[in-house]
Amino acid sequence: MTNLNYCPPILTRYRTFSAVQADLQTGTITCRQLVEHYLDRIREHHHLNAFTEIYADESLTRATAVDQKLADGTAGRLAGMVIGIKDVLSYAGHGLRAGSRILDNFTAQFTATAVERLLDEDVIIIGRQNCDEFAMGSSNESSAFGPVRNAVDPSRVPGGSSGGSAVAVQAGLCLASIGSDTGGSVRQPAAFCGVVGLKPTYGRVSRWGLVAYASSFDCIGPIANTVDDAALLLEIMAGPDAFDSTVASQPVGAYSQAQLPNDGDRPRPLRIAYLRDGVESAGVDASIREATQRRIDQLRAMGHTVESVDFPLLNYLLPTYYILTTAEASSNLSRFDGVRYGYRHSDPADVSTTDLLTLYKKSRTEGFGAEVRRRILLGTFVLSASYYDAYYTKAQRVRRLIRQETERIFEQYDFLLSPTTPTPAFKLGEKAGGRAGDDPLQMYLADLFTVQANVVGYPAISIPNGTDHANLPIGLQLMAPPFAEEALVALARSLEKSND
Ligand code: GLN
Repeated sequence: MTNLNYCPPILTRYRTFSAVQADLQTGTITCRQLVEHYLDRIREHHHLNAFTEIYADESLTRATAVDQKLADGTAGRLAGMVIGIKDVLSYAGHGLRAGSRILDNFTAQFTATAVERLLDEDVIIIGRQNCDEFAMGSSNESSAFGPVRNAVDPSRVPGGSSGGSAVAVQAGLCLASIGSDTGGSVRQPAAFCGVVGLKPTYGRVSRWGLVAYASSFDCIGPIANTVDDAALLLEIMAGPDAFDSTVASQPVGAYSQAQLPNDGDRPRPLRIAYLRDGVESAGVDASIREATQRRIDQLRAMGHTVESVDFPLLNYLLPTYYILTTAEASSNLSRFDGVRYGYRHSDPADVSTTDLLTLYKKSRTEGFGAEVRRRILLGTFVLSASYYDAYYTKAQRVRRLIRQETERIFEQYDFLLSPTTPTPAFKLGEKAGGRAGDDPLQMYLADLFTVQANVVGYPAISIPNGTDHANLPIGLQLMAPPFAEEALVALARSLEKSND
């Protein structure tokens, strides 16, 4: 019988895994109560549309099993961590839609390596999170499941493409999320929602089981309330995998323990570059420029050298990114032909579909949304025989120049700092006209500062950097050289601490 005087303990809104662990340790809570609490919150925040599927029974069963393991002393490192996964990550036996109609009724046949590693450490997956269709977008408005809303102001977007994943953490619907970042999709929504988003070095985390968008850019990355939790998740997901030959064999650091190097008892001064445009350009929102400048002043006060740099290729970042990613996407998405997966055009009265090519065309036209169709067409165009050299080859060359120019900055500096985004979260429909597609260039500008890390394959993190006058979150981005995740996390943590 329920004791009506009994007050359920989960009134605390947990922000950190260490707080959850402490309460599990003392028996103040159980994993099962924690999952019940998140399930309640997900129901209460249904209007945010952050989840496309909730694994209610399954996560409760798993929670009970993890409670038992905790009692037996056999629990993994993530016992008590309740997460959601973006709808582009395969989880065997569970639906996988990539936010698209073309994957209607599709069920994953195997589990992504990154997800498997988290499960091995007893993570509890509470559901699948909404995202832009095939992770293409910056506002989460291109999902076949409808837009996600920002919990700070539901008339605004959460960012994209991992919008559901960021909002789920922002609104306390789970403790952390796993997203993917091809041009900023973990960092940009993290910035719009006031949480932490970490994109690792390209090849740090296996892409096996991640629905491919642009394979030479795609990275799986965590979203969490704190740098520590994001670092822990990365540490567990990272490392070589026989299923993905692009994963690096570099040893995985203890990211969750990383500290800034010391000179005696003082932190060693770091050399930090910041993008002049991020602080001076009129194209960047004034409140974001000011917030970034305050961080620069603070880092100087901490004893670090912080100097402005120009990145002359800034204007080439977005064109290079969009030419190369659409080219790769047009190839990756060719597998969705209406025959092998999900949605298929079917109209018994339509005799034309007896012809295979027509079946492909109709299935793809109906199954893909406007933004994905645009990118497939653009990518096919830049790869076409007559234009290949003019666009694709040229963009590959510019990618190399961007990499060289970035390396040049990192010869002199340890980190590159910038705002994560030029503006805070915009209104739903403001750049997409209510449906993805009316002014794509306006939308693409939201990625101005985030795409560089993907074009060059470097790690980058977005951490909260205060709010603007309307209380909208602002993000600060730090980028580090390849495989310098430990240093990146350590610096981000030192800034996060100074926020408290
Ligand atoms: N907004 C960018 C795009 O639409 C980035 C997406 C991503 O990182 N998946 O391509």
